[in-house]
Amino acid sequence: MTDRKPLISGNWKMHHNHFEALQLVQKLSYLLTNADYDAVDVSVHPPFTDLRTVQTYFISEKEPIPIALGAQTCHSDQKGAFTGEVAAPMLAKLDVRYVIAGHSERRELFGETDELVNAKVHAILKAGMTPILCCGETLEEREAGSTEEKVTRQVNAGLAKVGAAQVGGLVIAYEPIWAIGTGRTASAEDAQAVCSLVRATVARAAGSDAAATVRVQYGGSVKPTNAKELMGQPDIDGALVGGASLEADDFARIVQYRL
Ligand code: PEP
Repeated sequence: MTDRKPLISGNWKMHHNHFEALQLVQKLSYLLTNADYDAVDVSVHPPFTDLRTVQTYFISEKEPIPIALGAQTCHSDQKGAFTGEVAAPMLAKLDVRYVIAGHSERRELFGETDELVNAKVHAILKAGMTPILCCGETLEEREAGSTEEKVTRQVNAGLAKVGAAQVGGLVIAYEPIWAIGTGRTASAEDAQAVCSLVRATVARAAGSDAAATVRVQYGGSVKPTNAKELMGQPDIDGALVGGASLEADDFARIVQYRL
């Protein structure tokens, strides 16, 4: 048992326009209770075009909704001539609290390197937000026995030159690429083994205090039916949820995994 508060994050990817986003967060906020928010931190990561709408909804209720706003990526520079990009300080201004860095889709489809992911981690921290640093292996890498090497490399590179105190406040998501959007989940034992490796890597890089507080999420086809078992593992402190976060009912049931 640890006293790390779990963080369950919904990564909407390129789904939902701002009207649909509003409907989803309204429904989600009706389904979640104060007891849920006491037990679990919750974040939603809509597309950029939805952020302002969702932010406004969260603060416009009589009791502000304690769901954290998240983003899916950002640029590594503070500002500049980067057509189409969004800077970390712009997200911070919208009350964004968590920003995903180095999701496997960004790495595999958009060529993000470890160095770029590290630069984004620094930009997110500089803007006062918390990175969710992603790592994870392909099926070929798993079958070749190189999961440990890949995950260790990604974690070390992602955390390069981040101070130990800051590392302790970070979130790292272990997401086996073969489990993302495939309906194929890592077994709870396999997920635990790699999340424990992530923590050990943090301990070597930033010390045992940072390793004790860093939150390690598992991601990859998390559903209401498997959330409880995954969340019961000692080194799993939350979930990064893709497909199942697009429906308020499913996402709420994942947040309520303990019930
Ligand atoms: C993700 O994209 O981070 C993810 C885990 O997706 P899914 O839950 O759909 O596998």
